[in-house]
Amino acid sequence: MSYETVIGIEVHVQLSTRSKMFCGCRADVFGAAPNTLVCPVCLGLPGALPRINRQALRYGTMVALALNCRIAPYTRFYRKNYHYPDLVKGYQITMYDEPLGQHGFVDLDLGGLPRRICIERVHLEEDTGKSMHAPGRTLLDFNRSGVPLVEIVTAPDFRSLEEVQAYAQELQQLVRYLQVSSGDMEKGALRFEINVSLRPAGSDELGVKVELKNLNSLRALQRALQYEIARQQSALEAGQPLRQETCGWDEEREETFVQRSKEASSDYRYFPDPDLPPLRPAPEWVAELWAALPELPWQRRARFVAEYDLRPYDAALLTEDRAVADYFEKAAALAADPQMPGPISPQTLAHWITGELFCLLKESGQDIAQTPLRPALLVELVALVQRGAINASVAKELLPEILERGGSPRRLVQERGLARISSREQLASLVAQALAAHPQVVDEYLGAKEAALQFLIGQVMQASRGRADPHLLHELLRDQLETLRQVRSRSRPVQDGHR
Ligand SMILES: [Zn+2]
Repeated sequence: MSYETVIGIEVHVQLSTRSKMFCGCRADVFGAAPNTLVCPVCLGLPGALPRINRQALRYGTMVALALNCRIAPYTRFYRKNYHYPDLVKGYQITMYDEPLGQHGFVDLDLGGLPRRICIERVHLEEDTGKSMHAPGRTLLDFNRSGVPLVEIVTAPDFRSLEEVQAYAQELQQLVRYLQVSSGDMEKGALRFEINVSLRPAGSDELGVKVELKNLNSLRALQRALQYEIARQQSALEAGQPLRQETCGWDEEREETFVQRSKEASSDYRYFPDPDLPPLRPAPEWVAELWAALPELPWQRRARFVAEYDLRPYDAALLTEDRAVADYFEKAAALAADPQMPGPISPQTLAHWITGELFCLLKESGQDIAQTPLRPALLVELVALVQRGAINASVAKELLPEILERGGSPRRLVQERGLARISSREQLASLVAQALAAHPQVVDEYLGAKEAALQFLIGQVMQASRGRADPHLLHELLRDQLETLRQVRSRSRPVQDGHR
């Protein structure tokens, strides 16, 4: 029997507000000493009164709007009651079933095939503290207690791992584009909880679902899901019943493990928080936020394809990070300037940025927005290659230096004499020297070994410090070798006659 996988996703996004959800404690410090970012409110001391963080409300609403949700005219906070050591108050404040936004959607692009995922709701809540388990004891840190989170819940619309990955990447880009969160999974700023169930293909009923948690990288998410789908499938095939439970992911053993069997929501005894006022977002306020939304990742991607005629793959690479997309657009605008000695196409720029530049940035760990290689310098360098003033290999050699220290490529080329050698005489003498220095390789070539040509080209390139005009070099090398061949074939019969 074949099975269909049904997946729904809940994501908790840690908002990058300065202060916490209901108090003035800092929420933007990562790695502070334990229990130093706390106050009576986030420690749940008796009599302390929470106040709503306006910025968190703005951020949450921006996320809901970007995901095409309808913003609720009325929303409020509830208390979700449960007992756990890291939950000091004995309840968590959350919006429960009166969320900020509902009925949204996001369109995924799976290799050109569109796929719409429904967003059921977007709501705000507060984070809990953190338990650290040491042998024989548990340590508690409440710095994270009360940090604002926005929770995004999808319908069970996903049918494959590829869809889940596309969604995870899309959300990560979205919160970064909106600048409402760092989106760093490793630091817990983006936490995925995935509900997975299998059902016989063609069935409308949902199977028993298992919830996966503790997925702190896109890779962990992928591996855990692969593992869980395979586990459920073999259980179903063997006729073993599945239980509704919450599982964690063991990164080292690469398997899921049961954390607890799932509570029903009635176990939480939700009720409206009497300390917090209900909210009625003013339509003008919502309209203002809507108007102020930046261009979203998927919109920018589509525009890059339409406006710059880029391949979808390159557009996706360039828009993954807002700073990279900005960089590319600045460079493209400069390259299109009629004053520029060009012309440089957007595709050529995309090629340099996603190729050489990405590689160097990754190696050096530099941030593209901070590097001394400003878009104008990159355009200047590419223009030199484009005009044939230098070889691409010379440009590639200069790139790391300019990335590190800046400086005009044109000036560096002049100062170091790196301009391309296009003079026939100069190049012909370099070729002659190379041939004289490697008679054996010449013999090999004349003995019909084409590969020997590459070696000779390399020799001349090295001697010219990468400056030889490649086309001219090729031509001259062939000419001189041909001349040698003729000379030898004329002299050979004479030698034979002597024998
Ligand atoms: Zn506090």
